[in-house]
Amino acid sequence: MTVTVLLEAQGLSAGYAGRPVVKDLDLSVTQGQVVVLLGPNGAGKTTTLLALAGELPALQGSVALFGGPAPAGLHRRARSGVGFVTEERSVFMEMTVEENLRVGRADAGQALELFPELRPLLRRRAGLLSGGEQQMLTLGRALARTPRLLLIDELSLGLAPLVVARLLTAVRAAADDGVGVVLVEQHVEQAMRIADHVYVMQRGAVVLSGPTAEVADRVAEIEASYLEA
Ligand code: ATP
Repeated sequence: MTVTVLLEAQGLSAGYAGRPVVKDLDLSVTQGQVVVLLGPNGAGKTTTLLALAGELPALQGSVALFGGPAPAGLHRRARSGVGFVTEERSVFMEMTVEENLRVGRADAGQALELFPELRPLLRRRAGLLSGGEQQMLTLGRALARTPRLLLIDELSLGLAPLVVARLLTAVRAAADDGVGVVLVEQHVEQAMRIADHVYVMQRGAVVLSGPTAEVADRVAEIEASYLEA
């Protein structure tokens, strides 16, 4: 079986005002793969996603996307098939669920298939939804745009464990349909459950990476050490 590499970052450095925060990062994502980035606050996970999404330029190194050099800039990468779900809830609060689903190139039907929970809420203003429902709308809309690669930053911040599980199950299902996913997630155990490959970052560098089953024990050790720190 051939493995299709969707994204390959090599020796990537990225940061702010020309100063690197993430240094010399090698990371790849294949079709159908969920890659999880873990690490303490300030480790550089969000910066990594911003560099992969094209929001931050590579200060060094390269990013290849879908078999060619990644186009520069967020919008061109988005057009080439990269979806990006960011930390702040990205729904339009004054618009209804239905209106939110019609914005952009989303296929509302597909979003509702992924999250039937949203169907009875179609006429409701997004601002009146629970945090979990808002994130279902955010994720459903992002997936309904049929990205080939989806970058997700802290989708489940502040949500109850059951809601986190629901969102991550949908992420896993999308990957099983062929989407490649890079996920930054605070809920380490839940994230590991859907991850194929894990990268642990500290101070802007990858300190451990590998297939989930192979690195799970070490991840637990590292996690314990940074939670205690
Ligand atoms: P968190 O879980 O807290 O979001 P993170 O692993 O995502 O952490 P980043 O947000 O990537 O970490 O931050 C990495 C470093 O970059 C931090 O030291 C942070 O202070 C710095 N940083 C983040 N955003 C900016 C910015 N806009 N300008 C300058 N420095 C920044």
